[in-house]
Parts: sequence; C-alpha cells; structure tokens
Amino acid sequence: MKDYLVRIIAKDANVRALACVSTSLVEEARRRHGTMPTATAALGRVLTAAALMGALLKTRQRVVIRFDSEGPLRKVIAEATSNGEVRGYTAEPLVNLPSKNGKLDVSGAIGRSGTFTVIKDLGLKEPYTGVVKIYTGEVAEDMAYYLTESEQIPSAVGLGVYVEPDGSVGVAGGFLIQSFPPQDDQTIEKLINRINALPAITDLLRQGKKPEDLISLIFADIPFELLERRDLTFKCSCSKERVEQALLSLGKEEVEKLIREQGGAEAKCEFCHERYYLTKSELEQLIEELEAPRH
Ligand SMILES: [Zn+2]
Repeated sequence: MKDYLVRIIAKDANVRALACVSTSLVEEARRRHGTMPTATAALGRVLTAAALMGALLKTRQRVVIRFDSEGPLRKVIAEATSNGEVRGYTAEPLVNLPSKNGKLDVSGAIGRSGTFTVIKDLGLKEPYTGVVKIYTGEVAEDMAYYLTESEQIPSAVGLGVYVEPDGSVGVAGGFLIQSFPPQDDQTIEKLINRINALPAITDLLRQGKKPEDLISLIFADIPFELLERRDLTFKCSCSKERVEQALLSLGKEEVEKLIREQGGAEAKCEFCHERYYLTKSELEQLIEELEAPRH
C-alpha cells in the first residue's frame, strides 16, 4: 500500500482529523540510516508525527519537529512539507533497547529529560518556534501535549510503528484529532472514549486497516466529510547544487584548502544519508565562480 494521509472535518462539530499510513517512508528512513529496531520505532513515530503536522500547513510551508534529550538517541528530527514530503534522522541510529511490556521502548530511547521543539516555516521573515519539555517521550503524547499547551488546540494523537523480527518496518501510521471553539463537549467525550478503547494502531494497520478506516472507527456515528487525500513520501531537499552553494559560502580559501588537503570534497546529508562527491576540477570551477566578477 502506498503511503497516504486523509483529512476530514466533522459535519456538526468543530472537530478536524487526520490519519495516515507511513510504512514505506519509515522503511526508507530505516534503510537509509541503518536504524536498529528501537531507533526505527522512535524515528518512525517522529516522521509520522511530522507528516501529520505538515498536512495542516499551507502550500510551500514546512514544519520541523525535534526531540533533544539526554536519552540514548540524543536527537530525533523530522521535517515535512505541506505536500507530503517527509525526511528525518536520529543522532544515534544504532540504539536498541530491551522491550518494555512487549513493546519497543521508545520513551526509554528518547528519554524524559529534554525538549520537544516545533519549528514552522510559514514563509514569513522568522520561523515560528514552540518548545515544551518532553512529556513522556512516547512521541504521540508529546505532540498532543505540545498542541494542547503551546498552540492551545486540544488535540489527541496516536502513532505506531511495528518493526518485523528481521528489523524491517511492518507497518507505520497515526492519527491526529483536534477540536476548536466553541467546543462540542458531547462529541469530544465520545471521541475520547473511542480513542481510549481503540486497539493499538499497529494492530489495526497489520489487519489491513486504511487511514479512512482509522477515522471511521474513531468517528463511527459522528458524521464527517472527507476533505483531502494526499500521498506521503520520504523525500529530501538536498542536491549536489546545494552542496556547491554551501561550499561557495565557505569562501575561496576554504575551497582551496579542500583541494590542497583532500583533492576533492565529500559531503553527507544528515537527513537522508546521501553522499555527494566533488572532484578537484569541480572545486576549481567553484573557485572560478568565486573569482568571477558579479553582475
Ligand atoms: Zn538529503
């Protein structure tokens, strides 16, 4: 199944919801970064959370969500665009902890002492940044806590990643439900009860449930309208051209030093692990560009 996300709005209550399946993009992140199961689950949840947040943005806007903590993973970062392109990484891809209550110990890997940050590039001069303390390190609860406390939008979030015994990603996905004023207390109570009674998302996805099915299970008799369905993909914005731009910004002396000391340059993208090589003559060309008179 291709990764995608659906966005709905309740017909008679101020509630909106998103649900997605993100299995392929989380698997691609795992493959690119070589993450071990606990790191895979943590990174997968953060990637899925970013995809959900990204879907609330307008065209050409981006969101970055990140955990910085004293836990074994130290740092988990994911970025999503409004059109469903997601990328991310963790500082410590090899983290693998013993299971806790039969589940991958994501909160143990992320740790509880640290911050959860959301940075939104809304195309304005300065990006919007919100920071809260890590709430549980389970990711979904941290995101719900952030949205409710920092953005003042009461939110419920569910995220799940199932890692197969061979280490690959079996399923991944999640949902986000938000209520707006004036709040419809009766509808919200119903939604909360259903979310609490919902089986694990990974169980539902492994049964073949789709994003629409997750919404239907939670909303049931609450009428809603499907607003959108969009594809999700792991996609990084890096390119050789961007590496060249970065080298140009270092200046002539630094580029000359690379030629002298290394005979070329190699750069690795943190987000997608792609490697870029620049030969000596390519670096020399950059120097020519730096020396060329600007028009
Ligand atoms: Zn990249």
